[in-house]
Amino acid sequence: MRLVLLGAPGAGKGTQASRIAKRFGIQQLSTGDMLREAAAAGTPLGLRTKHIIDRGELVPDEVVIAVVANRIDQADAANGFVLDGFPRTLLQAEALDRELAARRMGLDAVLELEVNEDVLLVRIKGRAQEAADQSQSVRRDDNPEVFKTRLKAYRAQTVPLTEYYRSQGLLKIVDGLQPIDIVTEELTTALRTSCYG
Ligand code: AMP
Repeated sequence: MRLVLLGAPGAGKGTQASRIAKRFGIQQLSTGDMLREAAAAGTPLGLRTKHIIDRGELVPDEVVIAVVANRIDQADAANGFVLDGFPRTLLQAEALDRELAARRMGLDAVLELEVNEDVLLVRIKGRAQEAADQSQSVRRDDNPEVFKTRLKAYRAQTVPLTEYYRSQGLLKIVDGLQPIDIVTEELTTALRTSCYG
C-alpha cells in the first residue's frame, strides 16, 4: 500500500502516519525527520537544508524529490509506505507520480487531516512544551514566529494538492480535530474502503 498523508503543520501527520504504518505493516517516510536526521548527522544534505528548516521555509523541490526517490527504493519500503510531509508542492506531487510510474507503481490513497487553523498554533505551543517537559529537544521551528512562515508556505504551496489528488479520485478527508484514536480509526476505515473495498 502506498499512501500520502496531507495536513497543515501541527495537524497530527507524524502521529497518525506512525500509527497507520504500524497498522498496515508499511514504512513511515517523513521528509521532515529525514532532513532533521541529516542536519543532526552534519551530512551535506543536512548542512544545506538546516537553516531553511529553521526559518520555516520549504527546502527546494529538487533536493527533497531526490531524497524521496532514493528512499522509496530501500528494502524497508518494498512492502509500501506512507509519505508524511511529502509532497508539499505541485511540482513535488508531479515528480512523485513520475517516480512511481517509472517503477510501475502508483498511490493507493491520499489522506488529508483537516484542522481549523486557530487550533494549530495552540498545538504547536503544546508540542514544544511537551518536549521541554520530557527533557526532549524542542524543534527549533516549533515556535510561534517560525510557525507563521510554515503556515504561509502550507497555504500558498501545499493547499493546491488537495484539488490535485481530489481530481485523481484519491483523496480521503478526515476531521483531524477529533481525539487521536478516533482520527486513526477514521483513517483506517477510509483506507479499508478505498484500498480493499
Ligand atoms: P515537517 O517535520 O514535515 O513539519 O517538516 C519540517 C521542515 O522540513 C519543513 O518546514 C520544511 O522546511 C522541511 N520539509 C519537510 N518536508 C518537505 C518537503 N516535502 N518540501 C520542502 N521542505 C520540506
